Amino acid sequence: MSGLTYAEWADAVQEGRLLGLACACGHTNGSPVAACPHCGERDLEQVELPTEGTVHTETTVQVPPAGFQERGYQVVAVSLGDARVMGRVVGDRVEIGDQVSLAGVITEDDGHPAPTFEII
Ligand SMILES: [Zn+2]
Repeated sequence: MSGLTYAEWADAVQEGRLLGLACACGHTNGSPVAACPHCGERDLEQVELPTEGTVHTETTVQVPPAGFQERGYQVVAVSLGDARVMGRVVGDRVEIGDQVSLAGVITEDDGHPAPTFEII
């Protein structure tokens, strides 16, 4: 199967699967794109990404105090095979290099699903 729409990607996240797009140049993208960001190729192959990987970057998003109990949440880019996927952390805080696995999905404030990850 080639190509990947946002709807397909979002449906898969809801089912606990992560889809990406593999390019002939060797780059794998962890989210829907119209063309390979490395070489511009538009004929990309839909692939299923592993659900376990390594934290590549992490950052804490501070939440305004009004109406929220939590002070902030962690957003990570996780290396899953050849791809990187953005998601939120649930459970313990993670650091770069930690091994994590797909934990589930949350719905962002804008209504879009985002994968969540937890330390293995
Ligand atoms: Zn490419």
